[in-house]
Amino acid sequence: MARSIYLFNTHDLPHRAGEMREYQLDLRVPEAVGVELLSVKRDEIIEVDLRVQSVDEGVLATGRVVATATGECTRCLAPISWPIDENFTELYYYELSSSRSTNKRGAKSKIDKDADLDLDEDDLSFMVGDDIDLEPAIRDAVILNLAVNPLCNEDCPGVAQKQGENWQYLSADQDQTPIDERWAGLKDFPLKN
Ligand SMILES: [Zn+2]
Repeated sequence: MARSIYLFNTHDLPHRAGEMREYQLDLRVPEAVGVELLSVKRDEIIEVDLRVQSVDEGVLATGRVVATATGECTRCLAPISWPIDENFTELYYYELSSSRSTNKRGAKSKIDKDADLDLDEDDLSFMVGDDIDLEPAIRDAVILNLAVNPLCNEDCPGVAQKQGENWQYLSADQDQTPIDERWAGLKDFPLKN
């Protein structure tokens, strides 16, 4: 299997607390990132300004995620593009060497002792060799920026009212009453008074 584009190799970063490196990454995403109606599409670029820093426990990654999501207005289905600009911070713990601890239980107790982190071990990120996996942090940053029900603009009247046209383009003497399809058949029906 091909190496994930989200894996970042920190081999240039010395394992000495205080060391720091900065990178600019252009990640071409192999599959859409986002929510159902709005996402950074496959083969689009997510730019990441990444800073990795050696700390005692591992590598601290901070990043700025810039991308453009595209989708459709949930009311009128007009195409929309949605700028994304979000920061993330993620601490990747050094892998536990087998000599120090052979299971995650050991990892947790050590971390609890070292820092007053109130985190479940499942929420912790670990390095794999020199690699850190940026995917969860980048996905979260993107999704945090998206609307679940995106609109082309806040006042979008929606396609049902528009009858496929923007009202503002209709001249004043045109009938602006939308015809409800359900009643269209009654238009010529002779109504008795
Ligand atoms: Zn709309």
